[in-house]
Amino acid sequence: MSFKATVLTLYPDMFPGTLGQALAGKALATDTWSLETVQIRDFATDRHRSVDDTPAGGGAGMVMRADVLATALDTTVAADDPRPRLLMSPRGKPLTQKMVRDYAASAGMLIVCGRFEGVDQRVIDARGLEEVSIGDYVLSGGEIAAQVLLDAVVRLLPGVMGNETSGQMESFEAGWLEHPHYTRPAEWEGRGIPDVLTSGNHAKIADWRRAEAERLTRERRPDLLPPRNTPTGRDKG
Ligand code: SAH
Repeated sequence: MSFKATVLTLYPDMFPGTLGQALAGKALATDTWSLETVQIRDFATDRHRSVDDTPAGGGAGMVMRADVLATALDTTVAADDPRPRLLMSPRGKPLTQKMVRDYAASAGMLIVCGRFEGVDQRVIDARGLEEVSIGDYVLSGGEIAAQVLLDAVVRLLPGVMGNETSGQMESFEAGWLEHPHYTRPAEWEGRGIPDVLTSGNHAKIADWRRAEAERLTRERRPDLLPPRNTPTGRDKG
């Protein structure tokens, strides 16, 4: 049983988009995962097929209607579908590699892509949509955010990455940023490769990589490092 993604969107033609190429695209072609898109507008009931309306309380922009989106959800997904139901949203829980790993271990995911000013709060509450953000900036719609999320998840599905271990030692998995990489040519524009990497001494190479990862993390993302010098048992004091 492969991982199944269902995406509800007003722009199904944006899919598979980037997910149709490279690693994710190959995995899609070999049925390691499947992608179903649902056109939310198909569930509109009035003769203008409207999916949005003006915000209650006034103000700029439009809001996606609860009734149309709920019908789209209820028609597409069975009540006992075990997959997480997400809404891409700048107000959501910030996406982390830990969340990505948990999603990759699930049966798939259902993703709603917002547009306009967002979605009527009542459908978020009534259908228990989990809001997920891909970062502290505002996109014009949830489609690219959904592709970011699915790209991160699909690469972790069994059999997708050529080298199974490469998912483990890289940035965020180990709790720190990854060490720098080098490849041939051995000299380029007068720049060499750190000697240790061509030494063949695997223990030394591992030490160097660990030290570089720690250095980079300390310089760029000290927030990722485990808390130091915390007096044990007194952290709450
Ligand atoms: N008025 C909203 C922004 C709406 S952007 C606000 O100020 O919070 C329109 C849609 O784009 C959203 O409904 C959401 O689905 C998507 N979107 C925008 N930024 C996003 C982000 N950082 N992460 C995930 N989805 C985002």
